[in-house]
Amino acid sequence: MIEARPSRWRHRLLAAGAALTLSLGAAVAPATGAVANPKSTLPSGNTDYRTLADYENDMAELAAQHPTLVKPITLPYKTTSGRTVRGIEISKNVRANDGKPVFVDVGMHHGNEWPSGEMTMEFAIDLVKNSRNPYVSKLLDRARVVIVPVVNVDGFARNRRQTDTNTDMNRNYGLGWLPLSSAGVAPWSEPESRNIAWLLSTRQATVFNTQHTCIQVVLYPPLQLAAGPAQDTERLHRLASAVAAKYGPTYRALPSAEDYETTGEAIDWAYYATRGLSITSETCPDPGVARTFQTQVLDTYAAHRSAMFEALETAADPREHAVIEGKAPKDAVLRLTKSFDMYTSPYAQPDGTVRPTSFTTTLSSDLDIERSNGKFQWAVNPSYRPIPAYQADGVRGNQTGFYTEPWILTCERPDGTVLQTTRVNVDLGKRVEVDLKQCKRDFHRKDVR
Ligand SMILES: [Zn+2]
Repeated sequence: MIEARPSRWRHRLLAAGAALTLSLGAAVAPATGAVANPKSTLPSGNTDYRTLADYENDMAELAAQHPTLVKPITLPYKTTSGRTVRGIEISKNVRANDGKPVFVDVGMHHGNEWPSGEMTMEFAIDLVKNSRNPYVSKLLDRARVVIVPVVNVDGFARNRRQTDTNTDMNRNYGLGWLPLSSAGVAPWSEPESRNIAWLLSTRQATVFNTQHTCIQVVLYPPLQLAAGPAQDTERLHRLASAVAAKYGPTYRALPSAEDYETTGEAIDWAYYATRGLSITSETCPDPGVARTFQTQVLDTYAAHRSAMFEALETAADPREHAVIEGKAPKDAVLRLTKSFDMYTSPYAQPDGTVRPTSFTTTLSSDLDIERSNGKFQWAVNPSYRPIPAYQADGVRGNQTGFYTEPWILTCERPDGTVLQTTRVNVDLGKRVEVDLKQCKRDFHRKDVR
């Protein structure tokens, strides 16, 4: 839990000449234009928690003022109470659909964990404000950052952990799902968890971070001891350790199952479906320290910033993903898809049997060929997908293998006409060249439909 909502100050004018202009609240702007509260070390200059309107205004203004760097996104499913979930993408030439590796960073699966939204939003503002800094600039050349600061909007509006169906959305993801008391009436019953599945299924997220409070850990799959270690445990641990080290010496990196056992969390489905490195970052002040905006946000942000740059560097690192490259006709659309069944844990079904429920995960992302020479490089997750413990016949832990299913690559006209379909297998850290001659030959032929 966090403390009750304090009265708002809303001093948020930045120093004159700052790269970023944020809206003034209804109240009190200092006449000088100086930093409102010199104690705020945040990129926004804020000294208090945001409201939902503040988050939406901040994202809208970043996008409006930096149209080549920031693009607004709207997640497809409205919340149970009809609210819209919004985010932003940040990258150089952000509107080009150009195949950069993607770092997805989300806050507030739990609506009462306000610092998790603040951390996420401040990092977005930080990236934009410092986009001309050589280090940041290079990262934004190489990678795309997708930020959704408040994924459980209803929960945030009511300052409570659950969604408006009284579900803990971080128990509602389908892989390994169990009907725990707050896991929802069915796997994927919540629009909020389906939104995150959409987010990660429609882009090549090589790293996924979900921000929480209030313990000092960075967690990675699996969620249950019976599942056994993830195939990429070494890589997951390396990332989680690097992130934890930035938060401080008292932070630990470990498999989620060794912290506490549960099912249906975002990171488990995300890793086993996409093979993107998926972590839960929990921040908290040291034991005995009061939990305030000062201790949970102002005093934590500098470490969080370093931690997220670790995650972003990993997302951009070609050793941590795969690359598909080649030449295609200018203006063609390339699409990479994969569809497969996944399973919950076994549980008592309405017909009295105890068995898992299956669901289909479809990954589908695309790239636009914009260069006149048609050359492209597409950073993707490897085609080899880790075999999860949750199977049609129950929990089969300690899997070590990978499914060898390929990516299905289609080369299309902008109107969706498929001119060529090819299967691509590509392993971690590898590059593969695809031959799209048929697509090139037929792209401008009127008789090929
Ligand atoms: Zn949480």
